[in-house]
Amino acid sequence: MITYDIWTSKFGEFSPAMQVAIMVCLATVSANVLSVFFFFTIGFETMDHVVVATTCTTVLVSAPLGAFLVGLNSKIKHVAAQLDLTSRTDGLTGLSTRTEFYKQVNRQMQMGDPAKGAGAILYIDADHFKRINDQFGHAIGDAVLEEIGLLIIHILGEWDHAARFGGEEFVVLLNGADVGKAEWIAHRILVGTRGIAEQLRVDGLAVTVSIGVAIHEPDQTLDEALMAADHCLYSAKYQGRNRVVLAESALSGSSLSS
Ligand code: GH3
Ligand code: MG
Ligand code: MG
Repeated sequence: MITYDIWTSKFGEFSPAMQVAIMVCLATVSANVLSVFFFFTIGFETMDHVVVATTCTTVLVSAPLGAFLVGLNSKIKHVAAQLDLTSRTDGLTGLSTRTEFYKQVNRQMQMGDPAKGAGAILYIDADHFKRINDQFGHAIGDAVLEEIGLLIIHILGEWDHAARFGGEEFVVLLNGADVGKAEWIAHRILVGTRGIAEQLRVDGLAVTVSIGVAIHEPDQTLDEALMAADHCLYSAKYQGRNRVVLAESALSGSSLSS
Protein backbone atom coordinates (compact mmCIF):
# COMPACT_ATOMS: atom_id res chain seq x y z
CA MET A 1 0.00 0.00 0.00
CA ILE A 2 2.87 2.36 0.88
CA THR A 3 4.63 1.44 -2.39
CA TYR A 4 1.37 2.12 -4.20
CA ASP A 5 1.05 5.55 -2.54
CA ILE A 6 4.66 6.46 -3.37
CA TRP A 7 4.16 5.31 -6.94
CA THR A 8 0.88 7.23 -7.38
CA SER A 9 2.24 10.44 -5.88
CA LYS A 10 5.40 10.26 -8.01
CA PHE A 11 3.39 9.31 -11.09
CA GLY A 12 0.94 12.15 -10.45
CA GLU A 13 3.78 14.68 -10.66
CA PHE A 14 4.35 13.90 -14.35
CA SER A 15 2.48 15.75 -17.14
CA PRO A 16 -0.51 13.85 -18.69
CA ALA A 17 1.50 13.26 -21.91
CA MET A 18 4.38 11.81 -19.89
CA GLN A 19 1.97 9.59 -17.91
CA VAL A 20 0.49 8.16 -21.12
CA ALA A 21 4.01 7.62 -22.53
CA ILE A 22 5.09 5.80 -19.34
CA MET A 23 2.01 3.56 -19.44
CA VAL A 24 2.49 2.70 -23.13
CA CYS A 25 6.18 1.93 -22.49
CA LEU A 26 5.32 -0.25 -19.49
CA ALA A 27 2.66 -2.16 -21.42
CA THR A 28 4.98 -2.65 -24.41
CA VAL A 29 7.95 -3.76 -22.33
CA SER A 30 5.80 -6.13 -20.24
CA ALA A 31 4.17 -7.63 -23.34
CA ASN A 32 7.53 -8.16 -25.00
CA VAL A 33 9.10 -9.65 -21.90
CA LEU A 34 6.22 -12.07 -21.49
CA SER A 35 6.18 -13.00 -25.17
CA VAL A 36 9.92 -13.69 -25.12
CA PHE A 37 9.44 -15.68 -21.92
CA PHE A 38 6.68 -17.77 -23.52
CA PHE A 39 8.74 -18.21 -26.68
CA PHE A 40 11.84 -19.52 -24.95
CA THR A 41 10.28 -21.52 -22.13
CA ILE A 42 7.21 -22.98 -23.81
CA GLY A 43 8.25 -22.64 -27.47
CA PHE A 44 5.19 -20.95 -29.04
CA GLU A 45 5.07 -21.32 -32.78
CA THR A 46 1.42 -21.02 -33.75
CA MET A 47 -0.95 -17.99 -33.90
CA ASP A 48 -3.34 -19.25 -31.17
CA HIS A 49 -0.47 -19.50 -28.73
CA VAL A 50 0.62 -15.97 -29.52
CA VAL A 51 -2.99 -14.72 -29.11
CA VAL A 52 -3.27 -16.39 -25.70
CA ALA A 53 0.09 -14.94 -24.66
CA THR A 54 -0.89 -11.44 -25.85
CA THR A 55 -4.27 -11.63 -24.06
CA CYS A 56 -2.64 -12.73 -20.81
CA THR A 57 -0.07 -9.99 -21.14
CA THR A 58 -2.68 -7.32 -21.84
CA VAL A 59 -4.80 -8.39 -18.85
CA LEU A 60 -1.78 -8.57 -16.55
CA VAL A 61 -0.57 -5.13 -17.54
CA SER A 62 -3.86 -3.29 -18.03
CA ALA A 63 -5.62 -4.51 -14.87
CA PRO A 64 -3.29 -2.76 -12.39
CA LEU A 65 -2.97 0.24 -14.68
CA GLY A 66 -6.75 0.45 -15.00
CA ALA A 67 -7.15 0.13 -11.23
CA PHE A 68 -4.58 2.85 -10.80
CA LEU A 69 -6.41 5.19 -13.21
CA VAL A 70 -9.79 4.51 -11.60
CA GLY A 71 -8.27 5.25 -8.16
CA LEU A 72 -6.68 8.43 -9.44
CA ASN A 73 -9.94 9.51 -11.03
CA SER A 74 -11.95 9.00 -7.85
CA LYS A 75 -9.31 10.92 -5.86
CA ILE A 76 -9.58 13.82 -8.32
CA LYS A 77 -13.38 13.79 -8.04
CA HIS A 78 -13.16 13.78 -4.25
CA VAL A 79 -10.73 16.73 -4.20
CA ALA A 80 -12.87 18.62 -6.75
CA ALA A 81 -15.97 18.11 -4.58
CA GLN A 82 -14.08 19.35 -1.50
CA LEU A 83 -12.82 22.41 -3.39
CA ASP A 84 -16.33 23.14 -4.64
CA LEU A 85 -17.73 22.97 -1.09
CA THR A 86 -14.90 25.14 0.27
CA SER A 87 -15.51 27.79 -2.37
CA ARG A 88 -19.24 27.89 -1.55
CA THR A 89 -19.09 27.76 2.24
CA ASP A 90 -17.46 29.99 4.84
CA GLY A 91 -15.14 27.77 6.86
CA LEU A 92 -15.76 29.41 10.24
CA THR A 93 -19.56 29.80 10.30
CA GLY A 94 -20.80 27.25 7.77
CA LEU A 95 -22.82 29.96 6.03
CA SER A 96 -22.53 30.65 2.30
CA THR A 97 -19.76 32.82 0.93
CA ARG A 98 -20.65 36.17 -0.60
CA THR A 99 -20.22 34.79 -4.15
CA GLU A 100 -22.46 31.81 -3.43
CA PHE A 101 -25.10 34.11 -1.89
CA TYR A 102 -25.23 36.24 -5.06
CA LYS A 103 -25.43 33.10 -7.19
CA GLN A 104 -28.26 31.52 -5.20
CA VAL A 105 -30.32 34.66 -4.69
CA ASN A 106 -30.00 35.77 -8.33
CA ARG A 107 -31.07 32.28 -9.42
CA GLN A 108 -34.05 32.44 -7.06
CA MET A 109 -34.98 35.90 -8.39
CA GLN A 110 -34.89 34.65 -11.98
CA MET A 111 -37.16 31.74 -11.10
CA GLY A 112 -39.58 33.91 -9.10
CA ASP A 113 -42.45 36.13 -10.21
CA PRO A 114 -40.89 39.34 -11.70
CA ALA A 115 -43.90 41.33 -10.49
CA LYS A 116 -42.95 40.54 -6.89
CA GLY A 117 -39.79 41.35 -4.93
CA ALA A 118 -37.51 38.59 -3.65
CA GLY A 119 -38.24 39.32 0.02
CA ALA A 120 -36.37 41.12 2.80
CA ILE A 121 -32.64 41.76 3.09
CA LEU A 122 -31.04 41.88 6.55
CA TYR A 123 -27.56 43.40 6.75
CA ILE A 124 -26.02 42.38 10.08
CA ASP A 125 -22.77 43.62 11.63
CA ALA A 126 -21.28 42.68 15.01
CA ASP A 127 -20.83 45.73 17.23
CA HIS A 128 -17.40 46.84 18.46
CA PHE A 129 -15.92 43.60 17.26
CA LYS A 130 -12.40 44.94 17.14
CA ARG A 131 -12.72 45.67 20.85
CA ILE A 132 -13.87 42.07 21.50
CA ASN A 133 -10.78 40.75 19.71
CA ASP A 134 -8.52 43.16 21.53
CA GLN A 135 -9.96 42.44 25.00
CA PHE A 136 -10.68 38.70 24.79
CA GLY A 137 -8.45 37.44 21.99
CA HIS A 138 -8.98 36.32 18.44
CA ALA A 139 -10.14 32.82 19.46
CA ILE A 140 -13.07 34.25 21.42
CA GLY A 141 -13.79 36.57 18.47
CA ASP A 142 -13.93 33.53 16.21
CA ALA A 143 -16.20 31.71 18.66
CA VAL A 144 -18.57 34.69 18.68
CA LEU A 145 -18.71 34.69 14.85
CA GLU A 146 -19.38 30.95 14.89
CA GLU A 147 -22.25 31.43 17.35
CA ILE A 148 -23.76 34.23 15.28
CA GLY A 149 -23.60 31.92 12.24
CA LEU A 150 -25.30 29.09 14.15
CA LEU A 151 -27.99 31.44 15.45
CA ILE A 152 -28.77 32.67 11.94
CA ILE A 153 -28.89 29.12 10.53
CA HIS A 154 -31.20 28.08 13.40
CA ILE A 155 -33.60 30.98 12.82
CA LEU A 156 -33.84 30.92 9.02
CA GLY A 157 -36.35 28.94 6.98
CA GLU A 158 -35.61 26.41 4.26
CA TRP A 159 -35.88 28.91 1.37
CA ASP A 160 -34.00 31.76 3.04
CA HIS A 161 -30.34 32.43 2.32
CA ALA A 162 -27.58 33.62 4.64
CA ALA A 163 -23.96 34.47 4.00
CA ARG A 164 -20.93 35.76 5.81
CA PHE A 165 -20.13 38.72 3.62
CA GLY A 166 -16.72 39.21 5.20
CA GLY A 167 -15.17 39.86 8.63
CA GLU A 168 -18.00 40.35 11.12
CA GLU A 169 -20.70 41.10 8.53
CA PHE A 170 -23.58 38.82 7.60
CA VAL A 171 -26.37 39.15 5.05
CA VAL A 172 -29.70 37.34 5.01
CA LEU A 173 -32.39 37.11 2.36
CA LEU A 174 -35.75 36.21 3.85
CA ASN A 175 -37.44 34.71 0.85
CA GLY A 176 -40.81 36.37 0.10
CA ALA A 177 -40.88 38.06 3.53
CA ASP A 178 -42.87 41.25 4.12
CA VAL A 179 -41.76 43.95 6.53
CA GLY A 180 -43.60 42.39 9.49
CA LYS A 181 -41.81 39.07 9.15
CA ALA A 182 -38.48 40.78 8.43
CA GLU A 183 -38.74 42.87 11.59
CA TRP A 184 -39.69 39.84 13.66
CA ILE A 185 -36.76 37.75 12.37
CA ALA A 186 -34.34 40.67 12.77
CA HIS A 187 -35.38 41.05 16.40
CA ARG A 188 -34.94 37.33 17.03
CA ILE A 189 -31.37 37.63 15.72
CA LEU A 190 -30.81 40.77 17.79
CA VAL A 191 -32.05 39.15 21.01
CA GLY A 192 -30.34 35.81 20.27
CA THR A 193 -27.01 37.56 19.80
CA ARG A 194 -27.28 39.21 23.21
CA GLY A 195 -27.38 35.70 24.70
CA ILE A 196 -24.11 34.58 23.05
CA ALA A 197 -21.87 36.04 25.77
CA GLU A 198 -23.70 33.95 28.40
CA GLN A 199 -23.42 30.80 26.24
CA LEU A 200 -19.67 31.28 25.86
CA ARG A 201 -19.26 31.90 29.62
CA VAL A 202 -16.67 34.63 29.21
CA ASP A 203 -16.62 37.17 32.04
CA GLY A 204 -17.15 40.75 30.91
CA LEU A 205 -17.98 39.80 27.31
CA ALA A 206 -20.93 41.58 25.68
CA VAL A 207 -22.02 40.64 22.17
CA THR A 208 -24.50 42.68 20.18
CA VAL A 209 -25.26 43.29 16.52
CA SER A 210 -26.75 46.10 14.49
CA ILE A 211 -29.17 45.17 11.70
CA GLY A 212 -30.33 47.11 8.66
CA VAL A 213 -33.49 45.87 6.94
CA ALA A 214 -34.75 46.64 3.44
CA ILE A 215 -37.44 45.06 1.31
CA HIS A 216 -36.39 44.07 -2.18
CA GLU A 217 -38.68 45.85 -4.64
CA PRO A 218 -39.74 44.16 -7.93
CA ASP A 219 -37.79 46.61 -10.11
CA GLN A 220 -34.64 46.56 -7.96
CA THR A 221 -31.40 44.67 -8.51
CA LEU A 222 -29.99 42.64 -5.63
CA ASP A 223 -27.20 45.19 -5.23
CA GLU A 224 -29.70 48.04 -4.86
CA ALA A 225 -31.58 46.16 -2.13
CA LEU A 226 -28.29 45.34 -0.39
CA MET A 227 -27.28 48.99 -0.53
CA ALA A 228 -30.60 50.05 1.02
CA ALA A 229 -30.12 47.53 3.86
CA ASP A 230 -26.48 48.59 4.32
CA HIS A 231 -27.64 52.21 4.57
CA CYS A 232 -30.02 51.21 7.40
CA LEU A 233 -27.19 49.32 9.09
CA TYR A 234 -25.15 52.49 9.00
CA SER A 235 -28.08 54.35 10.65
CA ALA A 236 -28.30 51.64 13.32
CA LYS A 237 -24.60 52.13 14.11
CA TYR A 238 -25.03 55.88 14.15
CA GLN A 239 -28.00 55.65 16.51
CA GLY A 240 -25.92 53.74 19.07
CA ARG A 241 -25.75 50.11 17.77
CA ASN A 242 -27.53 47.02 19.22
CA ARG A 243 -30.72 47.76 17.27
CA VAL A 244 -32.73 47.11 14.09
CA VAL A 245 -33.36 49.91 11.58
CA LEU A 246 -35.86 49.46 8.77
CA ALA A 247 -35.64 51.25 5.42
CA GLU A 248 -38.18 54.02 4.96
CA SER A 249 -39.56 52.30 1.86
CA ALA A 250 -40.16 49.19 4.00
CA LEU A 251 -41.91 51.25 6.65
CA SER A 252 -44.17 52.97 4.12
CA GLY A 253 -44.85 49.53 2.61
CA SER A 254 -45.83 48.31 6.05
CA SER A 255 -48.20 51.18 6.74
CA LEU A 256 -49.80 50.65 3.32
CA SER A 257 -50.37 46.98 3.98
CA SER A 258 -51.71 47.43 7.50
P1 GH3 B 1 -18.57 48.63 14.60
O1 GH3 B 1 -19.41 48.48 15.79
O2 GH3 B 1 -18.57 50.03 14.06
O3 GH3 B 1 -18.90 47.65 13.50
O4 GH3 B 1 -17.06 48.36 15.03
P2 GH3 B 1 -16.20 47.08 14.78
O5 GH3 B 1 -15.07 47.10 15.73
O6 GH3 B 1 -17.05 45.88 14.80
O7 GH3 B 1 -15.74 47.29 13.29
P3 GH3 B 1 -14.30 47.37 12.67
O8 GH3 B 1 -14.53 47.35 11.18
O9 GH3 B 1 -13.53 48.51 13.22
O10 GH3 B 1 -13.57 46.05 13.12
C1 GH3 B 1 -13.92 44.81 12.63
C2 GH3 B 1 -13.00 43.81 13.28
O11 GH3 B 1 -13.36 42.47 12.94
C3 GH3 B 1 -11.56 43.98 12.84
C4 GH3 B 1 -11.09 42.60 12.48
O12 GH3 B 1 -9.89 42.28 13.11
C5 GH3 B 1 -12.18 41.70 13.02
N1 GH3 B 1 -12.35 40.48 12.22
C6 GH3 B 1 -12.58 40.36 10.92
N2 GH3 B 1 -12.66 39.07 10.55
C7 GH3 B 1 -12.43 38.34 11.68
C8 GH3 B 1 -12.35 36.93 11.95
O13 GH3 B 1 -12.55 36.07 11.08
N3 GH3 B 1 -12.13 36.56 13.23
C9 GH3 B 1 -11.92 37.47 14.23
N4 GH3 B 1 -11.70 37.03 15.45
N5 GH3 B 1 -11.95 38.80 13.99
C10 GH3 B 1 -12.22 39.23 12.74
MG1 MG C 1 -18.62 45.65 13.37
MG1 MG D 1 -18.06 45.63 9.71
